[in-house]
Amino acid sequence: INKSPLRITGLNHIILKQFLRPGFCAIDATAGNGLDTLFLLRSINPGGYLTAFDIQALALENTENRIKTFFNNDKPNYQLIHDSHANIAQYIKEPVHVAVFNLGYLPGENHQITTSWNELKKALMMLTDGLIVPGGIISLTVYSGHEGGKHEQSNIFRYIKTLAPEKFNIHVTRKWNTVKPSPVLILIECL
Ligand code: SAM
Repeated sequence: INKSPLRITGLNHIILKQFLRPGFCAIDATAGNGLDTLFLLRSINPGGYLTAFDIQALALENTENRIKTFFNNDKPNYQLIHDSHANIAQYIKEPVHVAVFNLGYLPGENHQITTSWNELKKALMMLTDGLIVPGGIISLTVYSGHEGGKHEQSNIFRYIKTLAPEKFNIHVTRKWNTVKPSPVLILIECL
C-alpha cells in the first residue's frame, strides 16, 4: 500500500496512464526537471516518440540526465527542444496522443521565468485545432499562487469554456481541503 498522500502530479500520471500505449506520440510542453518527460517516455516505449520543450537550457539538461540515468544503454526515441511550446507547429508534424503542460516556474530556480498565457494559448490552439488525435488528451497543471498565475489560470478557464462539448470532454479537479491556493488539474479529452 502506498502510504504517501495523493498529490495532483501523481493523480495526473494515474489518469494519463489510461491514455498512453507503447508506440504513441507524446509531448511534454514544459520539461522542467524531467519527471513528466520520463513518465511519458516510459509509458510510450518501445516504439513511441516524445518531444519535450523548455525555454531554459538548465531544464533540458536536467531532463536529459534523468532520461539517460533511467534508460542507461537503451535508446528511446525523443527530442528535447530549447524553444517555447508556442512554436509547437514548427517541430511536431505527426498527430499527438498525449500533451502535458505542468505550468509555472522551474522549482528552485528563478521564479520570474514562468509560463505565460500568451505563449500557452498558441500551443493550446494548435493542439485543439487538430494536432491531438481523437481519443487523445491534453493535461494542464495550473498554479495560481505565483505572480502571473492567476491571470494564466483565468485565461485558461475562459479558453476551455469555448471548446465544443461534442468535440472535447473536459474535467477540472483540485485538492479541496486546503486554505492555500492549490494547483488545478485540467484534462481535455479529444472525442
Ligand atoms: N514538468 C516538469 C517536471 O516534471 O519536472 C515541471 C515543469 S516546471 C513547473 C515549468 C517549466 O516550464 C519551467 O522549467 C519553465 O522554464 C518552463 N517554461 C516556461 N515557459 C515556457 C514556454 N513558453 N515553453 C516551454 N517551457 C516553458
